[in-house]
Amino acid sequence: MKHLSLLISLALLLPACASIHRSGPAPTWTIAIHGGAGVPELSAEKEAAYRRSLSTALELGKRMLTEGASALDTVEQVVRVMEDDALFNSGKGAVYTAETKHELDASIMDGATLNCGAITGVKTVKNPISLARLVMEQSPHVFFSGDGAERFADGVEVERVPNSYFDTPFRLQQLKDKLNNGSNGTVGCVVMDSHGNLAAATSTGGMTAKQFGRIGDSPIIGAGTYANNESCAVSGTGFGEQFIRHTVARDIAAQMEYGGKSLGEAADHVIHSVLDAGDGGVVAVSRDGDIAMVFNSVGMFRACADANGRSEISILK
Ligand code: ASP
Repeated sequence: MKHLSLLISLALLLPACASIHRSGPAPTWTIAIHGGAGVPELSAEKEAAYRRSLSTALELGKRMLTEGASALDTVEQVVRVMEDDALFNSGKGAVYTAETKHELDASIMDGATLNCGAITGVKTVKNPISLARLVMEQSPHVFFSGDGAERFADGVEVERVPNSYFDTPFRLQQLKDKLNNGSNGTVGCVVMDSHGNLAAATSTGGMTAKQFGRIGDSPIIGAGTYANNESCAVSGTGFGEQFIRHTVARDIAAQMEYGGKSLGEAADHVIHSVLDAGDGGVVAVSRDGDIAMVFNSVGMFRACADANGRSEISILK
């Protein structure tokens, strides 16, 4: 009896955000998105706005996947919509550096081929995720930084804007308040498409008041982004330095590939046993149609859907 009550108390202590293993037939497509792990205090009005933005991005992904779009096209388009939305810390709503500028990072990965593309420290590209995809498809390289990334952008078709395009009063206030609080609002999308292919994409302005040349996890393949048809697709958000140290996205995939773990087990392990409390979280989909949205922060803006009719949006635990 004593043991039973101990077990019940332990179960109650388990994080509410742990991934749930799917029951029923495997869906033919799945999608999960995040809009950052650092959830600020939200008025009812602000919360409704975030929910609307997540819903717009999710519905686009659902529509594309229902019509047979590829995982790669879907993650790029969904992330573009979030980049254009000033609520998120990517594209239009990007945070400020310590020098009151914006330096954007993004990466994308195709789980079918392991091709990937990434850019960091970009200042004039309206949709960094599309530049990352162009790096993947139109260069012999994987990762361009700063001036080199801008030069690469000069030679491809991608929309350019002045750095001031990314200005928003809300992010400026965050810089003035010296709020270096995980810079809520990085965006990411992971997909398994109806052809069984996986893809992942992540885009961010980084951390508020970041120092000259600082690079976080989001543009680093294996840290903030990873996709492999053999296991899963992952996009992370949170304290980038920690995600780099622990190669979070690749570790989740590796635990499935070499350790035989399910997506939920692998994601729970890395987020709750490897990272420190408050570091952040991930959204991930597996090749079997499972979805994990796991975090150890107060909340994570997130949403997911699948071909079986699952569709949900959440912010806190
Ligand atoms: N991971 C991002 C970075 O460190 C920030 C975030 O996800 O909020 O640049």
